[in-house]
Amino acid sequence: MNEFKQNMKEALFYKKTGKGDLVCNLCPHHCKLKDGEKGKCGARVNNEGKLFTENYGKITSINIDPIEKKPFYHFYPGSSILSLGTFGCNFHCKFCQNSEISQSYKERFNSIKDTAPEDVVSKALKRKNPTGIAFTYNEPFVWFEYMLDIAKLSYDNKLKNVVVTNGYINIKPLEQLLEFTHAFNVDLKSFDNEFYKNFVSGSLEPVKKTMETIRNKGHHLEVTILVIPGINDDSELFSKMLKWISSNLGKNTVLHINRYFPAYKMTYYPTPLSTLKVLFNMASEKLNYVNIGNVSPAESGSNTNCHSCSQTVIERSSYNTIVSGLDSNGYCKKCNSHVAVLK
Ligand code: SF4
Repeated sequence: MNEFKQNMKEALFYKKTGKGDLVCNLCPHHCKLKDGEKGKCGARVNNEGKLFTENYGKITSINIDPIEKKPFYHFYPGSSILSLGTFGCNFHCKFCQNSEISQSYKERFNSIKDTAPEDVVSKALKRKNPTGIAFTYNEPFVWFEYMLDIAKLSYDNKLKNVVVTNGYINIKPLEQLLEFTHAFNVDLKSFDNEFYKNFVSGSLEPVKKTMETIRNKGHHLEVTILVIPGINDDSELFSKMLKWISSNLGKNTVLHINRYFPAYKMTYYPTPLSTLKVLFNMASEKLNYVNIGNVSPAESGSNTNCHSCSQTVIERSSYNTIVSGLDSNGYCKKCNSHVAVLK
């Protein structure tokens, strides 16, 4: 076995197409790779007719974060979670807020030592009252094999696994992962396929399919949209998106409307607060739980109110969270309606 193969993990979900060529079937890009070529994610490579992952065990960032930071607002509110990420991404967002790891590839991370899945899980278990593990920071699907190995172990140890993702994955691998995961936050970039083509290098339909699949499996799902002024803040399109979420994912889907700041290749001015408020009001008419993110606590409206009587049931200030208005079974203490929060 050559040195390359010793240090790499063979990928799942690919097909040999002859003469050393192959196609990767992990995500909807379906990269066709000749010997020596890398996929669009920059993390998978064809070596002598076999597909290998280059980021298996390569952690570029690992922290204990408040779960609200992911963001998850209705999944174990007030808890903290072991969070980790690697390098690579199957999207190339011009406004990426984590471009140092998502758009930077293996060469920059050659010196990172491998961490075994067992070590990650034991780190999570060592914490007092551990919630679980969050796959986040860069796009987790591009280290699918590592995430799956950790998720299986973590699941067996009764931990929760959460995934913060762009949703760009094929259904077969997604279904495999869903067996060992509990909650997803999907970053819906826009409800316009042209936006996906021009600003992200992807497409909308597979992301919708991912969200429907997660929802149909009964997993916890929150959705985030980063609103960029003049680019994806069209109210007609936003209204179409809300209608789709409400009909296909349900009114209890938690929606985070996030403020954009200039990042990576995009230099537009930050989203005006007035725009966020208009979209927040629109969303609140269609969905039960809507928040504004990336703004100061005073501007966020980040508390959770009972959808039935409007009583505040979860209070948030920065990352301090107090579940004040729910009983132990998740019912509003004031009106006894059930609020869609897992805790
Ligand atoms: S995971 Fe990477 S290599 Fe595979 S299809 Fe997607 S972008 Fe291409």
